[in-house]
Amino acid sequence: MKKGRVAVLYEVGKPLEFREYQVPDPQDGEVVIECLRTNICGSDIHMFKGEAFSAFGGLFYPIVLGHEFVGRVFKIGKGVKTDSLGNPISEGTIVSPVYYKGCGSCHLCSDGREYACFRSLLSVLREAEKPPYFVGAFSEFYVIRAGQKFYAVPSDIPVKYASAVNCALSQVIFGLNQIGLRYGESVVIQGAGGLGLLATAVAKDMGASKVVVVDSVENRLGLARDFGADYTVNLNGDFRERVSKIKEVTGGGADVVVELAGTPIAIKEGMKYIKRGGRYLVMGAVNPKQKFDADPSVWIGENITIKGVSLYSSHSIVMAYNFIQRNKDKFPFDKIFAVFEFEKVNEAISSAVEKKYPRVQILINDT
Ligand SMILES: [Zn+2]
Ligand SMILES: [Zn+2]
Repeated sequence: MKKGRVAVLYEVGKPLEFREYQVPDPQDGEVVIECLRTNICGSDIHMFKGEAFSAFGGLFYPIVLGHEFVGRVFKIGKGVKTDSLGNPISEGTIVSPVYYKGCGSCHLCSDGREYACFRSLLSVLREAEKPPYFVGAFSEFYVIRAGQKFYAVPSDIPVKYASAVNCALSQVIFGLNQIGLRYGESVVIQGAGGLGLLATAVAKDMGASKVVVVDSVENRLGLARDFGADYTVNLNGDFRERVSKIKEVTGGGADVVVELAGTPIAIKEGMKYIKRGGRYLVMGAVNPKQKFDADPSVWIGENITIKGVSLYSSHSIVMAYNFIQRNKDKFPFDKIFAVFEFEKVNEAISSAVEKKYPRVQILINDT
């Protein structure tokens, strides 16, 4: 029997520890995959630091982190012949799993909004010390459960880029669709980390007339320009000057502002960038209990729409593949990732905590 390693987080903020388990045979409807490359997402960092999402109702450690990843089919359970689009799969097919699975029976699941299912969030966090053990992607294997969707990665997409499809890229594509970004609209993106850079490229691809990116780190702003930003603003300047510059560049304020900064303070400022009648998409500030002061009369008076979005529809993965196919030579995706070997997973986490790179990637198995 094949064995595989899992990097387990036993205690908040402590180094992960490797454990080795026998790789289970897939049950009916399941697929066991080898993890190839796993990226460290902002939510992994929150869970590492013990900042559990309020939606989870708390986390029960030990846990296996890692959900933004790409894998290769290792063994296929009875009844599975294709991916979730009907493409045939076999051992060796490279796939992106949707990292959640709706419960299928709540009012949101029956309305086609599995991404908002409360119980689907819980299912991300399966118990680390019970079979099948391979429940997160900081691991050499992963078990895709019966009914959990997954999609074969088109052969012209580099595996390195495909790793970002099932969280970061699908997240920003879905979010910008949800906020109704239209051709020719102006966009301000707050935060030039991995999500912010991808959102910049996607907004341009969707036909945004102008994309402005705001961040406090100069080299990130340089990257944002590489990813299509028409204008960048450093947060270290004067607040009033910053706001008036953004209003000038966007012709009176942005149609859409996107919060990907990961802090509620950014929302207070971001509200100032919006045009009358504009929309605000909140996707980064997932830190529970952190707040900001607000004057809701402004939202009412100016007809502002505010929308929070978490997760994504499964089909966003297909759109994400399509986006990469069309744009892989247009934007320097390679610059997003800093790659660490699986053995150095703790070093990788420290770099991600310190925000040294837009996206830290763990190379688990080479193709
Ligand atoms: Zn994520
Ligand atoms: Zn549900």
